Amino acid sequence: MSNSLKINLTILPEEGLRLTFSEGAAWFKECFCEDERPEFSLIKVDVNCIITKSGDTIYVRGELAAKINQECGRCLEPATIPIGGDFVYTLVPAKVEVAKDLELTAQELETSYYRGDFIDLTPIICEQIVLQAPMRVLCTDDCKGLCPHCGINLNIGSCVCRSDVIDDRLAVLKKVRIKN
Ligand SMILES: [Zn+2]
Ligand SMILES: [Zn+2]
Repeated sequence: MSNSLKINLTILPEEGLRLTFSEGAAWFKECFCEDERPEFSLIKVDVNCIITKSGDTIYVRGELAAKINQECGRCLEPATIPIGGDFVYTLVPAKVEVAKDLELTAQELETSYYRGDFIDLTPIICEQIVLQAPMRVLCTDDCKGLCPHCGINLNIGSCVCRSDVIDDRLAVLKKVRIKN
């Protein structure tokens, strides 16, 4: 599959090349080194994009819709959420004489480099998925999380720790009342 995402720029049509494709978990995982993998895993991504050329500059514009799986930030159960949106990616030819600090400046402006006659959409789309994923995932907006005392998942069960907390509060109220 991933070979089909290598675009031969020498045969790019004048009006641009429109591509629609879907990829899954293994494709996404292989795009990252082991120590650079994001905290979430990809279930599926659907991409619709158009690749155009203006002079030596290549534009990749499109939209993606993905489902990702990550631990809920409160209860630590696996949570599946949809992400997606539009993206624009600009690539210019890498020049050997370009100084390293100039390359960094260009990268900050969301411009990347290509070498030779091919661009590979795989790292471009994987980067977009990472950019569009939220920092923190919740299984539901009102996830009750884990009890900070015994660790029970409060979405599934209840524990006596919570009533202890309430009792403590009542005790404080009682003391205040006595003082008054
Ligand atoms: Zn949760
Ligand atoms: Zn508890």
